[in-house]
Amino acid sequence: MGYIVPNDLLTEHECPLAVIKCVDFRFRESDQEFVEKHLGYKNFDLYAWPGSAKDVLKNNGFKVSFSEKIVAVSKNLHHVKKLLLLWHWDCGAYGGSNNFSSAQEEEAVYQKDLRTVRDMLMPDVPADLEIVMAYSKAVPQGLDYTILE
Ligand SMILES: [Zn+2]
Repeated sequence: MGYIVPNDLLTEHECPLAVIKCVDFRFRESDQEFVEKHLGYKNFDLYAWPGSAKDVLKNNGFKVSFSEKIVAVSKNLHHVKKLLLLWHWDCGAYGGSNNFSSAQEEEAVYQKDLRTVRDMLMPDVPADLEIVMAYSKAVPQGLDYTILE
């Protein structure tokens, strides 16, 4: 026998949410807590990639592959209703926080890019898939998560 981990989800076939987030280990547990405790989803389809979905901005094969998998796996197989685009503070895909002149600038760029990525994905995914955007920002107490309207 190998190493046995209890799992009571194997007979489940649906989950309401898919998330794409950065691979950065520093944010894994905080992101899970935000999605679980604040948004209310313990389980979700997880897509992790350096820079989250920022590469969609390149309008290349990443955008094609990502939107195809969201539709084929998360939407059609797991029946997700929402896709969360989750950015994080000090992301290496942006050269880190030091690459911005201020926290305000970093936040403004994240907001702009999140909206652009959402707009670029929308034509490729079903209209009833809601795209939600959020990002974390460093504050003295830890990470402050903002959901974009
Ligand atoms: Zn990152």
